[in-house]
Amino acid sequence: MDKDKIYSDLIKIISPQKISIDEPMKEHTTFKIGGNADVFLKLDSVEDIKNVLKYAKENSILLTIIGNGSNVLVKDNGIRGITLKLDLKEIQVHEEVEFISVYVGAGIMLPKFSIEMANNGYSGLEFAAGIPGTIGGAVRMNAGAYGGEMSSIIDSVICIDRDGNLHEVKKEDAEFRYRKSIFSKNNWIILQIKLKLKYGNKDEINKKIKYNMDERKQKQPINMPSAGSTFKRKENLIPAKVIEECGLKGKRLRRCNGIRCSLWVYSKFGRSNSKRCIRLSRANKSIGI
Ligand SMILES: Cc1cc2nc3c(=O)[nH]c(=O)nc-3n(C[C@H](O)[C@H](O)[C@H](O)COP(=O)(O)OP(=O)(O)OC[C@H]3O[C@@H](n4cnc5c(N)ncnc54)[C@H](O)[C@@H]3O)c2cc1C
Repeated sequence: MDKDKIYSDLIKIISPQKISIDEPMKEHTTFKIGGNADVFLKLDSVEDIKNVLKYAKENSILLTIIGNGSNVLVKDNGIRGITLKLDLKEIQVHEEVEFISVYVGAGIMLPKFSIEMANNGYSGLEFAAGIPGTIGGAVRMNAGAYGGEMSSIIDSVICIDRDGNLHEVKKEDAEFRYRKSIFSKNNWIILQIKLKLKYGNKDEINKKIKYNMDERKQKQPINMPSAGSTFKRKENLIPAKVIEECGLKGKRLRRCNGIRCSLWVYSKFGRSNSKRCIRLSRANKSIGI
């Protein structure tokens, strides 16, 4: 459906301030490349999300979800239909006797949230302070680092399916695996996460976070536009090792200004584009990663 028609329909069900047309996705992804989203929404209420899902379903409009865009590569020709960025940011903390239950909106940024929890003396998120995504995106990917992963602190996940039905998925039913979950299979939208954190020593927790962050700064090109590590581990195959052994580390694509080959495919300089990033990722795939 034409984007102007979608816009004129949407302003009947949500505030026009939450809608933009031809939104540059390079502003919403850490790769900093990619085309425009035809219709872009930033929604902070479940009611709005339900209404948009209903509208998209009834009119067979493609609906793409985005968090902080730190694990996506948007194609150069952009995204058709509706792109929905979740802006649910409520946090509720319940201190129980032996642990802390925290209900957190899917749009909260993991680094800020991890530090906030640490400063309250709540332990569990030390591994997550350097992962630059929303907590919703991190749950879907079962993001992890330094021996920790999201599944280790989750109690349940509140989500909505594409027909608008709400579900609470217990951790045992969420099929968490390495960088995967049931949500990457069923495409449900994560709205809120219930976490179970432990009481800890604030100084010890902050020390652990600082150690992990220092390691990251030393070993990873975190200031380059990228989506972090592009290649996943496969059984005994460690991508960083394979790339290095094949002499591909630091290689650029021929005639490509600034996209380098490493464990992290990253784009740099104005002329990089998504097509070239995909080509480079495929080149690495040809060596088995
Ligand atoms: C510098 C850098 C370092 C990184 N380090 C790590 C690391 O150590 N460990 C790690 O695991 N990852 C790492 N990443 C990758 C990325 O930050 C994580 O995967 C992060 O969890 C993605 O969250 P996001 O909000 O950015 O998701 P997005 O990139 O916006 O989305 C990723 C996927 O999740 C879906 N999605 C997003 N939000 C929701 C939602 N609420 N409900 C349902 N689906 C949703 C999207 O549709 C998309 O398919 C790194 C990335 C960068 C740029």
